[in-house]
Amino acid sequence: MEAVPFIGIDRHRLGVDGVGVTTLAAFHGCPLRCKYCLNRRCLESPEELPRESVERAAEVVGDFIVDIKESNAEIYKAYTGGDAALVWANLEWLIQKKGPEHVTVRVPLIPDFNTEADCDLTAARLKAMGATRIDRFTYRVQQS
Ligand code: SF4
Repeated sequence: MEAVPFIGIDRHRLGVDGVGVTTLAAFHGCPLRCKYCLNRRCLESPEELPRESVERAAEVVGDFIVDIKESNAEIYKAYTGGDAALVWANLEWLIQKKGPEHVTVRVPLIPDFNTEADCDLTAARLKAMGATRIDRFTYRVQQS
């Protein structure tokens, strides 16, 4: 089995990133380069991974919280440097595999990158894909 570049695990988080008690597992090697990232050492976007990795995660994780960031490919690329097509394909697979009740999709308003109208389009695309748990919020940007 392939080794995973693991940073650490944080158990018994109350009311953070989900309902009730949650566990955060952090890994090195995030393929994205989000402009407002607070921790570039971490990997928190499994949907940006090859399908095989997402399939493995789906075998052991009960509920997923996915920060989809943006549906417009150009905005997604400008903000993350990544490929939106891969993300959306993996998310669609995940929703079908786990069921929409087990996948919460977070849709952020990203200051200076997207608008409320862009978020409306992303939410509509998610609903058409079958997502039922959609969490809209606004990124807080650190002032330097
Ligand atoms: S997905 Fe973006 S915000 Fe999250 S760790 Fe990777 S670069 Fe940072």
